[in-house]
Formats: sequence, C-alpha cells, structure tokens
Amino acid sequence: MRTVYPHYYHDFSCIADKCPDTCCAGWLIMIDDESMERYEQYVGSFSGRLEKGIDFNQGCFKQDEKKRCSMLNQDNLCNMILNMGENQLCKTCKLYPRHVEEFEGLREWSLSLSCPVAAHIVLSCEEPVRFLEERNEDDDPLIDEFDDFDFLLFTELEDARDVIYRIVQDRSQPVELRMQCILSLGSALQTCVEENRISDMQRIVSAYKEDWTSAFDPEESWELTDPASRYDLLQETFSVFDKLELLREDWKEILNGERDMLAKGADHYAKLRRDFVKETETKDFWPVFLENYLMSFVYTYFCGAVYDDWIDSKVMLGVFSLLFTEEFIMNRYHETGKITLEDCENIAYRYVREVEHSDLNLNALEEYLHAVLFSPA
Ligand code: SF4
Repeated sequence: MRTVYPHYYHDFSCIADKCPDTCCAGWLIMIDDESMERYEQYVGSFSGRLEKGIDFNQGCFKQDEKKRCSMLNQDNLCNMILNMGENQLCKTCKLYPRHVEEFEGLREWSLSLSCPVAAHIVLSCEEPVRFLEERNEDDDPLIDEFDDFDFLLFTELEDARDVIYRIVQDRSQPVELRMQCILSLGSALQTCVEENRISDMQRIVSAYKEDWTSAFDPEESWELTDPASRYDLLQETFSVFDKLELLREDWKEILNGERDMLAKGADHYAKLRRDFVKETETKDFWPVFLENYLMSFVYTYFCGAVYDDWIDSKVMLGVFSLLFTEEFIMNRYHETGKITLEDCENIAYRYVREVEHSDLNLNALEEYLHAVLFSPA
C-alpha cells in the first residue's frame, strides 16, 4: 500500500474553542457503523445525552435550529469529548479536516481547505508543496471494491497530474496563464477519453511536459486575463450557484455581493478588476495563495477521474473554484479597501465548505462543468 500526503500534512492541530469558526455546524455529521454500534451500547452518565443527540435512524448527530451539532456546547467544545474522551469520536470527527482519496493500493491524504487552520497551513505555504510517499505492508482492506479498477487510465492520470503540478508551480509565468494551460490540457485529455484514444494521452502529456507554453492551445481554454472576456465567463457561469444547496445562511451575503457587482455591467467590472489586480501585485502572498489553492484541488480531485472519466471537469472544478474565490475576495477588497491574507483564507475556507461538504453540491457543480462547459471552441 502506498500512502501519499503533502509535506505540511502533519503540521495540523485543531485549536478547538480558539477556532474562528467551528466544523460542527452547518452540515450533517454522519456516523460510521462501528461508532454507531458503540454509541448504542454505551453505558455511563452520558448515555442519556447520546440517546437524545443522535438520530439512530439516519445515522447522524442531530442539530439544533442553527444547524449546530447536538454535542457542541456554547463554548464551541464537544460534549462528547469532554464526557467520553476523544477516542470515542466517530470516524468523521476523528479525521476532519484530514481527507482521504482511495485508489487500488494507494491512499492520498490531504487537509481540507474548509477548516480555517488547515486553510492557513495550505494557502500560506511559501515553499512549493511537495508530496511525500510511504510504503507499508498493510493489507488493502478495500481491495474488493476495486474489481474494475482501470490501471492503465490511472497511470496516465498520475503522469498527467505530475505535469499539471509542474505547470501550476511554474512561478516564472502568471497564474492566469497556468490556469488557462491546465484547462487546455484537461480538455485535450478528455477528448482522448471520449474518443477512446487512451494511448494518445502520453503523447499529449509529454508535449506539455517538454514545453507547456508551446503545447497550450488557448482555443481550448477560458480567457481569464482580459476583463471583458472574464466578465462574460462570470456572467455565464454564476447562475450555477443558484442550483446548489445553501449550507450556511451567511454565504448568501457573499453570493449577493457578486450578483450585485455583475449586475452593474462589464465596464464597471473592468474598472474594479483593474484596481484589484494592481493591488494584488503589491502582495507577495497573492500568487502563493492562488498556486496553493489550485494545487490543493488538483491533488485532491484529479485522479478521481479514473472512476467517472471526467478529466475535464476535475481540472475545471479547481479553476472555476479559484476564479470565483478570487471574485469574492475582490468584492471584499472593494468593501474594505484592503486585501489581507486572512480575508483571502476566510473566503477560501467558506467557499470550500459550501461546495466540498455537500456531495450534492460537488456533484452538481462537476456535472455542470462537464456537461455545459465541455465545448472547446
Ligand atoms: S474547523 Fe478546524 S480548527 Fe476549527 S474546530 Fe474544526 S478542526 Fe478544529
């Protein structure tokens, strides 16, 4: 079994009641079968609270009217930990914000950007992220689930992802160009899959590896630097947010800010965008933030295309998410007159909460990106 994780992975430590937010509100926390059995059989002074706080039919913790977990107290501490000890937590709570993607013989661990502390570790890391690999002799407990695992496609995807990493981390080029380039690569690889030409993927990946600026085809990408084209793209795609379930009420404000801004037209947008770009050019953290954000999405989702063949939407998911996160940060800048790394991280973790922590949202967004936007010019 191979285990992969980013070099900062072990730097995370939960700050509990010092956290500017909590991860125990806003979404349903599902309980794994083993923990559920333990809770059902628990005998002790906390058993009454457990019985009241758990929905044993749905297999999740109940929530109050503010969508806070029934175990969360007013100081944002977990009553289950306080009364039963940390080792009694269910798998979801024990792991969060650690996230795992599983493939045959491989587990890839990441830190979810939806936790503010993890977002800070990931997004402020000046050193380009490296992925460390360990091998151990553990049996793969999931071996039966991978009967149809497509090793050939997976190997191509791993190679392609290595090249995408090189492009995204090429600091000699503007981030927008790197974003456009990986879209073009994703689109070319998707065409191979659609046309059943998996063997061509290596040739395309090699061309990008050799010189990505020459291999890049702008016709198969989005124009992200010209404010007028960018405005059109935002206008065309923003409505997808109306199709997503709202996890937190305060997210509406961010969406409404964007809606109001877009309603003022292309010229207004172009002016705001120019001011914003000028300001970001004075911030050393900005290109690092963008690069790390994109790397996090590519690392977490790209190889998942082995399960659904949607290579293009895996790349678009990262670029689209970064595009709108940047827009929401721009709106914050125009409200406050400044851009801070803290504000960027705040918007990023809140975006990821809305999108990543709802399977419905993640699937709807990916479906939209794949079906609506896979239309190379
Ligand atoms: S969001 Fe992160 S830091 Fe905050 S309580 Fe949850 S795990 Fe801890």
